[in-house]
Formats: sequence, C-alpha cells, structure tokens
Amino acid sequence: MGAVTPADSAVMLDAYAAIRCPVKVQNYYDATVKLPEGASGYGVRGSSDVQQELFGGREIIDRTLDALAALPGTVDLRLLADEDFTVAQDATRDAVRGGAQVIVAPKLPVDRRGHRRGSPSALVRGTDRANGRPGYLPVQVRSRRMLERHSRPAQQSASPIGTPSPASALYLTNAQFRTGREDDQLHVAHFWRLLEAAGWQASGEPMAGIIGSDSLRRTFFSDGELAGVEALALNPAGSRGTAAVVWIMLTRKQIRTFSRTAPEGWKKRSALERYDHEHGFRVKVAETARKRTGEPSDPHRMVTPIFVRECSFCPWWAVCAPEMGADDLSVQIDKSPLDVREISVLRSLGVRSVHDLGSADLDALLPRYLPEVRHRDGAEQRLQLAARRSRMIAHGTHLERTTAGPIPLPQAQIEIDWDIETSAADRIYLWGFLVRDRSRPDDEGAYHPFVTFADQTAADEAALARRAMTWLAELLTEHPDAHVFHYSDYEMVHLAKLAGTSSDDTLARALDLIRRRHVDLFQTMRTHYFGAHGLSLKVVASTAAGFSWRDDTPGGLNSQSWFLDATHGADEQTRAEARQRVLNYNEDDVRATRVLRDWLRTQA
Ligand code: SF4
Repeated sequence: MGAVTPADSAVMLDAYAAIRCPVKVQNYYDATVKLPEGASGYGVRGSSDVQQELFGGREIIDRTLDALAALPGTVDLRLLADEDFTVAQDATRDAVRGGAQVIVAPKLPVDRRGHRRGSPSALVRGTDRANGRPGYLPVQVRSRRMLERHSRPAQQSASPIGTPSPASALYLTNAQFRTGREDDQLHVAHFWRLLEAAGWQASGEPMAGIIGSDSLRRTFFSDGELAGVEALALNPAGSRGTAAVVWIMLTRKQIRTFSRTAPEGWKKRSALERYDHEHGFRVKVAETARKRTGEPSDPHRMVTPIFVRECSFCPWWAVCAPEMGADDLSVQIDKSPLDVREISVLRSLGVRSVHDLGSADLDALLPRYLPEVRHRDGAEQRLQLAARRSRMIAHGTHLERTTAGPIPLPQAQIEIDWDIETSAADRIYLWGFLVRDRSRPDDEGAYHPFVTFADQTAADEAALARRAMTWLAELLTEHPDAHVFHYSDYEMVHLAKLAGTSSDDTLARALDLIRRRHVDLFQTMRTHYFGAHGLSLKVVASTAAGFSWRDDTPGGLNSQSWFLDATHGADEQTRAEARQRVLNYNEDDVRATRVLRDWLRTQA
C-alpha cells in the first residue's frame, strides 16, 4: 500500500484552519495540486510558530505556562510532548477525571464527527457538569496584547493568573478585549467545540480564556454602582503587573459580519456562530477538494486565491501566484487593501485586475457593488481610493503630487537626520543620526549611532537615551539654527514616552529642544503627495528619490529579528554580522531621509 495522502484521509482541521486562508485547506486536500518542493504541511501552524519564535513569543508563552504549572492542583503534561499522542491523551483523560484545577499542555481527543483536532495551551476547571463530573474551559496563551483601553468600566472580565478559575474573575475598570482580535476568539471557539465533543466542557455559558501579554493590577471601582468592588485595571504597556486569563463569552453576539438580509447590511454574531460558519465552510472546501483526481468530471474547486497577509509566508505561494496573476487587485493594492469579501464581490462583477478597476466606470459599478459590502464602513471611499491606486499602478506611477508650487522646508547649515530602532520588547536600542554641513557641498553626512546590543532593562534604555540626547542637545546648542529631520512621529512619540516614564531631566530638556527644531518629513509628504503604495520611507525614497538600501529586505520587523541575532546569535560571527546589518540598515534609513529631503527641495 502506498503512503496515505491528505486526499485519502478523512478531513480533520486544526484550530488555525478556520481563521486562515481557505485555499490552504483546499490545496492540502486536493491531490491534483502538488505542494511546492521543499515546503511542508499546509503551513498554517508552522508559519505562525516561526513568526512567534522570531519575536520572542515562545519565551513569553513558556513563562506563562511555567506560572500556570506552578499553581497548586495543576497537572503539567508538557513532559509528554514527545510521547505517543495516545499517551498524552490518556494522561489528559486521567487528569480530567481526577478533577485537576489546571491541566497544562493537554491533548484533547480528536472530534471525527466534527472534523476537528487540536488542543489549547491549558484547561482550567470551571463549573461541574450536570452529571457531577468536573467541567473544563479551554485557555490559550498568546504572546501579544489582548486588551485595549476603554472608558466604560466592567466591559470585560478576567482572572489573575495566580487564580485562573472563572470563579475568581473580576471586571476590568478601564479596558476591553481588543477590537480586531476576532481571530483569537474563533481560535478558542475551536477548542470549546472539541471539549464539547469529548463531553468535558464546563456547565453554564460557553466561554474560553486567553492569556495575552497584557499587564494588569488589582484595584477597586471608585464610583458608580460597583464602587468599592474589587477589580482589575490594565497597566500602561511595559509596566510590571500580573498576567490574567481574559474570558471570552463565546455565545455573545459581538462580531460584526456581512448580512444580506439585515437592513443595515451587517449583523453581530457570536464567536461560536462565526467559528461554526468558517469551520463548516472549510470542511466543505476540503471534502470537495478530496474528490478531485484530475478527471474531467472533477468537481470545481470552491475557492480561488486572494492575496492576504499570510500569502507572504505561505508555502503555497508558488501555486497561487500564477492563478492570481501579477496584476490582480489583491496582489497590487497593498496600501489600505480591499478585504477578501470586497475582492470577491469585485471579481463577481468582472473586475479582477488593476487594469479592470482603473478603467472601470465607478458610477455604474457602485450600485451593484455597495449592497454586497455593507459590512464595511466607508466602502465607497475605499473603492474610490483603490480605483485611484489602480490607475496609478496600471500606468506605472508611484506618486502623484496633490499640490502645486515649491514645497516649503526649513533650511539650515547643519541638518540632522534621526532614526531609532526598537526591539521586540519595544525598547530603543539604537539611536542613529546623520549630521551634514550644507556649507560644504560635497558633505555626504557623518553617521553617529548610539547603540546597545544586549537585552535592556528600563534603566538600560534610559541610560542609552541619555547618552544620545546629551550628544544631540550639545550639537543643537552649538548650532542654534540646526534642524532635526525624521520620518513619521515614531521617534518623537518614543522620546516623549521615555522622558515621561523615566522622569529624566536630560531627556525632558532634549525633548523640549527638539520640539522646537524638528521636521517630520512624513507630514510633508502627506501634505503634498498621494502614493499608489502608500508613503512609507522605503517606498518614497526608493521610487521618487532613487535611494536604495544596502540590505535586500530592509524593514522594521526584519531589523527586530536581526537584533535578536545580534544579541543571541549562536556564535560570535553570527552576532557580529547581525550587528553590522542593523547598523547599516539604520544608517541607510537616515541617509534615505536626507536624500528624500534633497529631492523635495527640487520639486517646483
Ligand atoms: S498563497 Fe495565499 S492564497 Fe494561496 S494558499 Fe497561501 S495564503 Fe492562501
């Protein structure tokens, strides 16, 4: 008997399938589509893990699981990770029957009828079941923040990680679950359905927990009906506090989705409703794909590729790219991209490429388009913008001037370009400056970096900032007419935050000095230009001013992974190369700002 292929086996989807591109599922189960050589699996889980590891997410997750494992009454099954699946599953069953308070790294039984498999980071004991047996709730650990500030109190409940049971849940005074984290809700809904299939779910309203990287503190409500009641409050980012299990009520209708029948064109649905829909759809997609053998009578594939963020690290890209075509709207419009539904509706109306949309009669298109995309606010304006971008891209135009006449920019003999780099922990580890004396026409500028290639504490970060700002303040004092140029408010926001949190006089004085002498070139670009691909420094300095970075893949996220290599690389050579790569990248950024400024001054 030959090897069993996905097309031979029953459809069984993991917790990522419902929140990822359905074409991945389709390709995986379609025997007529071959995985590109060198790629493995259908890449959903792998790519996510790679991303998390890149940015230190694994460490946060391990630390959180360690904290759960240290609680009394916890059964930690991580040691069984390398054992046969049935061993870990039997151990999970024993722990459930024994009524453990927390089970770390459980292995849930496969739900064959529901076409589901997978396991959450932990199970937390909830309300016992009607038959008297222990009932459980799934809890997933994530390495990113799950909460955002909100002025209305008591919108969200959470349990401090030291007492993770829902019975210990407290309301939050100042935060709610982050808007835009629907995928995380659907992800835990998958585990709830698996628990139900096993008969292990807690009684009461279906719920699941997520432990993010948020930091909370215990407090009390100060006024209103809840005055004096114990609560939790979200701390500012980066400050110390406790982690918490944020509880998601899976049947509460909180997620806005398209609805053809609702008068507004959209409806709020619960996480379980959304999950069931997405999971069920992918099961159908997979079942259909499994029937394909390459015969003329094969059923049609149910979904066609649309470029989404995950395409960038998807092993199926070599299969999907030719199918989409180089001028596909979803491929080409990378700034304020249209969503999957918007693209699908346009395709159904015969608009696939930037050439199609760029030349479309929008007055004729909009009445047929808008009723189908009422899930989006501002759908008409989004389409108008996409059409403008399409026209530009189709004509090979990157930038359009939106004003006339010379572009006003302050001039000084000494001009300083400034750019910072931050680590995945959002600490500034590199302050880079380019100083140019314009009285010397051949002066290309001298680069001055202030850098620490090591993990930083708050005190380390402030000390490095003090060195950089002392140097800059002296330069600005020596040259009272000098100006400091940067691109976007990233530098000023970080400096202001650091000056505020460190209460450092040097930083406060430097901030005050720079506030009177800085120029944000991004604001200048925004005032005078529209960009087909946006107005990021990488785009405008390269396409308009002809600048090129020495690195093939310059970018803020990449520089964070280089910083990791620079500080934790396996050997000295790796670390040294990564250090140089970061420095070159930062130097090129400040040189790009300078080149862009020179170019702007030539624009009449
Ligand atoms: S390349 Fe993109 S469209 Fe194709 S399967 Fe991957 S994520 Fe989906």
